[in-house]
Amino acid sequence: MEKIRVRFAPSPTGLLHIGGVRTAFINYLLAKKENGALVLRIEDTDKVRSTEESKNAIISGLKWLNINWDEGPYFQSERSELYINYLNYLIEKEAVYPCFCKKEEIDIEKEIAKKRGKPYKYSQRCKYLSDKERIDKISKGEEFVYRFNVEPGLVRFNDLIKGEIIFENNILDDFIIIRNDKTPVYNFSCVVDDIDMKITHVIRGEDHLSNTHKQILIYKALNKETPYFGHLPLMLGKDKEKLSKRHGSVSIEEFKNEGFLPEAILNYLFLIGFSIKDNKEIFTMDEMIEEFSLSKISRSSPIFDHDKLRWLNSHYIRNLSDEELFNRAIGFIPNDLISGSREKLLKILREIKPNIKVLGDIKDLTIYFYKQPEYNQQELKNIKNNINFINFINDFINIIDDIEPFESSLIESYINKILKEKNILLKDIAQPLRYLLTGKYVSPGLFILIELLGKEKTKKRISIIL
Ligand code: GLU
Repeated sequence: MEKIRVRFAPSPTGLLHIGGVRTAFINYLLAKKENGALVLRIEDTDKVRSTEESKNAIISGLKWLNINWDEGPYFQSERSELYINYLNYLIEKEAVYPCFCKKEEIDIEKEIAKKRGKPYKYSQRCKYLSDKERIDKISKGEEFVYRFNVEPGLVRFNDLIKGEIIFENNILDDFIIIRNDKTPVYNFSCVVDDIDMKITHVIRGEDHLSNTHKQILIYKALNKETPYFGHLPLMLGKDKEKLSKRHGSVSIEEFKNEGFLPEAILNYLFLIGFSIKDNKEIFTMDEMIEEFSLSKISRSSPIFDHDKLRWLNSHYIRNLSDEELFNRAIGFIPNDLISGSREKLLKILREIKPNIKVLGDIKDLTIYFYKQPEYNQQELKNIKNNINFINFINDFINIIDDIEPFESSLIESYINKILKEKNILLKDIAQPLRYLLTGKYVSPGLFILIELLGKEKTKKRISIIL
């Protein structure tokens, strides 16, 4: 059987969007599952909108996610000759014609269509120029584009995800395939490359369905077999609107900067995009490849829920060893902590691990280890009124210097001894103590917290109440 070849073909006109990541990932899974190949192709023929920054963001984003491609990256901007060769074939067949209409002329046509309440379609004025007229215009140096000559009829194909699709050609006008600077327009370069790269399956977002109509016409004119097409339903936000900045992070860069792990992102995309039996939610890469099938792709739009992704991310973080967490969190750990003892830092990470949803939380979860907390005066007042607590603190301050080594188990037994003598319960002192030590009501366990803060900070913070 023919080997499956798929591609991810982004236009480098912005950051790598999570929707694009989903397309890339599904192509990756298909290639892996079928032992095929994934090609990365950067569609940068639009010189005005393509940027170097965006190319870099796409490539580094995919690498960070571990979506590894087998061939490429190919850059369309470096393949002009190929498109011109294919264009010449179409010129020869009269499947395309040069169009000399100026922008102002087209604008007038558009204006007339608008007034008549009709969708704009190019008038085909240049289609009927004689050879002589064409030669004259070209020799006068008039600029021109090439338009595809759309013949009446229909295009019918079986979409791997959406089922049978039929398009009437009369909804199209003679669309441009080569710009006046001789660069190809997306629909043309995409087809030429998919042919040249022997792509067997074109899997992309459903926003490309109308392009597929044009592209199939180009395949036919080139006398080439069409690949299989599959159009993925677009991911939406929780409010069923197009996923945008309003919903939270959208580019992979933003997810990375917030402190999401790539494995959590891919697992999440898999989870919301496929109909999976059982209620299984956590998948390793091997399991996702194993489970993958085009037939399991949801027919309806997956809903992207940032909170659910945070939950999944926290799962992956909890499963990292302290060392791994340290290595992966390095850019997120405040310098004041990095500069201290590594052994202590690993212990801190272990203790806060259950509360980390994204690595960016680390700063807030550790701030009190190196910065004096800012207290709320009302909270302090309430604590001062807690007689049991003040009694406890008085005793604790008196014996704290005796605790040696200053380790959580010994701290625990000293504290328990005081509580027992005073007939106070741990739960009655735990929250005020935690608040004085950290300025927060959520922290690691008290005894390990005291150990990690050290004697001096502990003494200083609890004595402000006296
Ligand atoms: N370059 C197109 C885009 O970024 C996608 C092309 C395709 O997958 O056919 O939207």
